[in-house]
Amino acid sequence: MKRETILVIGANGQIGTALLPRLQAIYGTRSVVAADLRRPDQEQGIFEQMDATKADELTEVVRRHRVTQIYHLAAILSAKGESDPIWAWNLNMATLLNVLEVARVNRIRKVFVPSSIAAFGDDAPKYETPQTAVLDPATVYGISKVAAENWSLYYHKRYGLDVRSLRYPGLISYQSMPGGGTTDYAVAIFHAAVQGQPYECFLSENTLLPMMYMDDALRATLELMEAPENRIKVRTSYNLAGMSFTPADLTASIQTYFPDFKVRYKPDFRQAIADSWPKTIDDTVARRDWGWKPEFDLPHMTQEMITQLSTSYH
Ligand code: NAD
Repeated sequence: MKRETILVIGANGQIGTALLPRLQAIYGTRSVVAADLRRPDQEQGIFEQMDATKADELTEVVRRHRVTQIYHLAAILSAKGESDPIWAWNLNMATLLNVLEVARVNRIRKVFVPSSIAAFGDDAPKYETPQTAVLDPATVYGISKVAAENWSLYYHKRYGLDVRSLRYPGLISYQSMPGGGTTDYAVAIFHAAVQGQPYECFLSENTLLPMMYMDDALRATLELMEAPENRIKVRTSYNLAGMSFTPADLTASIQTYFPDFKVRYKPDFRQAIADSWPKTIDDTVARRDWGWKPEFDLPHMTQEMITQLSTSYH
């Protein structure tokens, strides 16, 4: 067992819910501190109710638990952020700067700050979007991710802070519902299918987007964080690819299990966000630097989601 104390901020969200048990298995339940604005439905291990926009609350938790690593998962996501851009910007930036500054002052060994494919915008190539494509995001969420990438690089260069990052694609998991992103349909559709209900999709049927099953995302995160420091060459954020599919592809994949499953397409404001994002991602640099390789394709992910959700609903 490794001697580290890990703080996960935003631990009740889609990623945190799935990441916590993995971190507890590696470092021990008593070495992982979950923190969030709201208490979790079920507390598993140490929990701190904390607002990461408040530097003093964050500092107090870091010092009291003698934290050595921080996973900063608190954010307002792409679709939700568009309802109140200034609020989303303020929350995303305040929490980020608090985490970086508290990490610097308290000599935190490693920090994880996720980015997103939302960092890319209209002028990046849509297919096989390269690591170094131009970043001209269309959402306030994307703008906050580009800023976060640059702040992370700055803290690394100026202060030597070991901050690491991945540009996650849309993440698909059964452990909890997603928190207001543009790829949320790819989780909600499974909940409808296993309950025998039709699904109304907020993206059009041919909207191709980069996606990833949560198992792959967690493995990527832990592999990145475990990699020797000299292997981490990108200090903004690494491109990361799993699979790309459209709502029509996903529906067809689900219909191999539920032939009568019906989907109606009714695109809303999230269509424009999706249209500004890459369709496929080139993650050659992550593969080269620290050996990234995805395991889940569309059929395998569909099978896992249906198996896991069928047991929780029945
Ligand atoms: P989520 O919305 O599901 O969870 C975020 C959590 O942060 C929530 O539990 C919320 O209560 C908490 N939070 C919000 N404000 C807080 C504050 N001030 N202090 C403490 N906690 C606060 O998000 P997620 O899907 O788990 O995403 C985690 C990170 O990964 C985010 O940075 C997100 O941008 C990034 N990301 C996620 C996806 C995805 O598909 N889920 C894709 C790309 C990037």
